[in-house]
Amino acid sequence: MQKHVKIYMQHFDYGIDDFIPCESCGRKAVDIHHVIFKSHSGTNDIDNLVSLCRPCHEKAHDSRQFNNYLKQLIKKRDEENKIQGL
Ligand SMILES: [Zn+2]
Ligand SMILES: [Zn+2]
Repeated sequence: MQKHVKIYMQHFDYGIDDFIPCESCGRKAVDIHHVIFKSHSGTNDIDNLVSLCRPCHEKAHDSRQFNNYLKQLIKKRDEENKIQGL
């Protein structure tokens, strides 16, 4: 398993067989995407990682606008998690 996938799963307490939903559309996620691309020195920190299904992942790499939307999504997610004490 890739390191960033492991970090993501551990952060949200997912098991290896758990269903991980795409954070954009709710379908089965197949990838963990770096919203700041690795090639742009994005990190493996949880605030740079989002689970995505195949079509959403392709969109994230095709559309800067969609990728920016994902950044907002992560920001909101992490704020909510802080409130819940995760
Ligand atoms: Zn999706
Ligand atoms: Zn990606």
